[in-house]
Amino acid sequence: MPTKHDHVEKNHKIAVMGGTFDPIHNGHLAVAHAVLDAFAPQRILFMPGGHPPHKPHKPVTDGEHRFKMALAAVCETPAFDVSRLEIDREGPSYTVDTIEDLRRICPEGAEIYFIIGADALMEITMWEGADRLLKLCKFVAVCRPGYQIDNEYVEKLRNQHGAEVHILEGPALEISGTALREKFAAGKSVGGLMPKVAEDYAITHGLYNTPPVDLSPARFDAVKAELELRLSAKRFKHTLGTVTEAEKLANHYGADANKARWAALLHDCAKEFSAAKKHLLCDVWQIPTDDIMRTDIDITHSLLGAESARRHFYVTDGEILQAISRHTMGAKDMTLLDKIIMLADYIEPCRPACPIVAKQREQAYTNINESLITGITATNEDLRQRGKLVHPWCFEMLENLKEGL
Ligand code: ATP
Ligand code: MG
Repeated sequence: MPTKHDHVEKNHKIAVMGGTFDPIHNGHLAVAHAVLDAFAPQRILFMPGGHPPHKPHKPVTDGEHRFKMALAAVCETPAFDVSRLEIDREGPSYTVDTIEDLRRICPEGAEIYFIIGADALMEITMWEGADRLLKLCKFVAVCRPGYQIDNEYVEKLRNQHGAEVHILEGPALEISGTALREKFAAGKSVGGLMPKVAEDYAITHGLYNTPPVDLSPARFDAVKAELELRLSAKRFKHTLGTVTEAEKLANHYGADANKARWAALLHDCAKEFSAAKKHLLCDVWQIPTDDIMRTDIDITHSLLGAESARRHFYVTDGEILQAISRHTMGAKDMTLLDKIIMLADYIEPCRPACPIVAKQREQAYTNINESLITGITATNEDLRQRGKLVHPWCFEMLENLKEGL
């Protein structure tokens, strides 16, 4: 039965877009926006289907996941919503039942439009209760690359079945759920083809055979390959040096070597974002910044790096994210992993052996605090000479490290 959520009492014109939405993509959204422009319905209701009765053998992603993905994709558009009507229905789900249910709760005379792509339109007479359905609502047939709308067929729907069919040339994007599922399974990017929130949802829930979001060596290698593409050669070399050093330090001090490798791998992932991008991302990702950070925006690359590791590389481990976020400005209560990443960044093998680094290397494997103090004190002095301010977190860290000597 329809829920309160589907109630459209005040809405006299409603458009329904049926489909499996496995996953929802920009083709669907572009069509919905075009319908919004052309027909001005009060609401467009995306209606993820139950198990498609005409495709009994086709595996379909769990309805709850398809519902949530679609909702994430449309929730910021006031006129769009997603209905649970079909996914909550027991047994096979027929569009005719859905439209009848909606008709029952709509006021007399309400107009219901069913949006249908050129491919699905050509099969509509085979749907359960097609005769009834074709008279129950109006249709907006939208063009879709690779499929022709057969005018003779449309005429037949109009004349023999009494259907009201509007044809919308529409945006006709060459995107399909099938192609996206294939891309996911092959580990290829779906950027620009579906909303980022829906993509994130699919990845974090492991839909479409996406590689699991874990800390396995295979994922490590995949992230490493992506960073190699994205970072400059120099930064990438430094990154790999930091990974080696962090692993060594972790093994020496009995910390989690895998977490150290991951934190080191991603510690500079945001470092080469432009200054403008860093400023903007601090706002967009709601990272609190102070005057020192805004004046020297580059130092936020540690905070942005942790966010990027979470949002772009799907790292969820809090210890890893914290170590990334603290590697530049530090923190009062540095954990062993935090210290390891900060120190590995200072002394990794690609760093030239200036006297300070040489001294740090000597101290690194006997007293991690002492080695960090050596590096931080020298950095602060260097910043002072260059007229830059040192962040208070750094002083707090320094005091704490000294107490721990
Ligand atoms: P799949 O490949 O799994 O069938 P799909 O991309 O066709 O996925 P559906 O959920 O089957 O997506 O489609 C829902 C509705 O949206 C159908 O009426 C379909 O014709 C229409 N549609 C989907 N993609 C497009 C597109 N790129 N352009 C126009 N209409 C589309
Ligand atoms: Mg389809």
